[in-house]
Amino acid sequence: MNDPYKNAVKQLERVSEILRLDKSSLDRLKVPDKFLEVNFTVKMDDGSVRTFKGFRSQHNNARGPYKGGIRFSTEVSESEVKALSMWMSWKCAIADIPLGGGKGGVIAETKDLSEGELERISRAYVRAIHEIIGPDKDIPAPDMYTTPEIMSWMVDEFIKIKNEECKVNSCECKKNDLIATFTGKPVENGGSEGRTEATGLGGIYILERLAEKEGLKPAETTVAVQGSGNVGYYFARLASELGFKVITLSDSKSAIINKEGLDIEDATKYKESKGSFAGYTNAQGISNAELLELAVDVLVPGAIENVITDENAQNIKAKYIIEMANGPITPEADEVLNKKGIIVVPDVLANSGGVTVSYFEWLQNRAGEKWEKDDVFAKLKGKIVSAFDQSWDAMKEFKTDMRMGAYILAVKKVVDAMKEIK
Ligand code: NAD
Repeated sequence: MNDPYKNAVKQLERVSEILRLDKSSLDRLKVPDKFLEVNFTVKMDDGSVRTFKGFRSQHNNARGPYKGGIRFSTEVSESEVKALSMWMSWKCAIADIPLGGGKGGVIAETKDLSEGELERISRAYVRAIHEIIGPDKDIPAPDMYTTPEIMSWMVDEFIKIKNEECKVNSCECKKNDLIATFTGKPVENGGSEGRTEATGLGGIYILERLAEKEGLKPAETTVAVQGSGNVGYYFARLASELGFKVITLSDSKSAIINKEGLDIEDATKYKESKGSFAGYTNAQGISNAELLELAVDVLVPGAIENVITDENAQNIKAKYIIEMANGPITPEADEVLNKKGIIVVPDVLANSGGVTVSYFEWLQNRAGEKWEKDDVFAKLKGKIVSAFDQSWDAMKEFKTDMRMGAYILAVKKVVDAMKEIK
């Protein structure tokens, strides 16, 4: 069983050797600043009362307020949330946004919940963690199985709590500031234009830059995408619009392949109407395991973590991997892939488009501004391409892989910030 937090610590230890990091900084970065476990009760539709467990991990805020999504999933665990919060510290540093690393989660199966139950869980979770979040403290966002609508409920609950506190303490709450406590909100409720597709689009800027560096021509470049959620869908759709040959899509139950290139819109409509890709006639069915081992140019794990492990790493035939999901490759598998000469663009860089536009949302909320979508995308492209180039250059300079290149930049920035505030 892979332990995400142990994996995150192993990656940090590797980079600390290269950077010759002092022991006290390493020890500090191995553990989150704060980890909160909460248990809360929610009234279900059938009248019963159920207890849910949730977490919020605040890894490091030397560079700015903690930032990171909230996951609703039965897979949520202390280890997963801690690892994801550490990865957020690196991601914000690589993306060069003045934020730190945080992450949250609730152990829940969203498929089994009604909308009312989901709303009550969201609000109860906010009541449980409200003391440690805020626009200058910790800024949550959506993640797996949480949505802009869920952010609306959460921000509404947070504002209610703060207004109550303000009545008691006779202080003044600024709505602009409070609304900036959550990002990934619907556009009509303070969200940023372009946030929905930001992560997938960020990955596309990476794909384009990689293609430029390595001389890949879109029409001759095959791409296998795992997943078809927010990240997988936008990545696949936009890559295909640019002329790349996207040959696979998948979900938790099914995967499909069309070696000539999939019609992403058509396949997605089919999945939406049938609930899975199974039976889609314009492609053949394969398994998620087979998808990962295809002889493609670019493999894009865009669903869940730990899908490439020491058990299947040797069988991976892609020339490049763009990690759009968080933590899809274990450290042991990473070593195997590096030895095979596969270039892996790490998650902390590849999927940083989401947090970058979240940061833009926070800025817009604080300033009471609304940016045009084109403006958001232009700013995003500037940040992602610069982060890619710096990580690529660090990879060459330190004669290492791209993950270490990105981590070297990130960890150094966080350690420098920690020293400044001592
Ligand atoms: P999502 O909930 O929209 O989609 C998840 C996808 O994974 C779905 O297609 C689902 O069917 C698939 N899936 C679930 N279990 C699977 C399994 N066992 N095998 C194969 N596929 C499986 O989530 P998302 O927002 O697309 O996030 C996907 C990944 O990207 C996650 O690791 C998330 O942390 C990461 N990420 C997301 C964002 C964002 O802005 N949404 C930002 C950064 C990173």
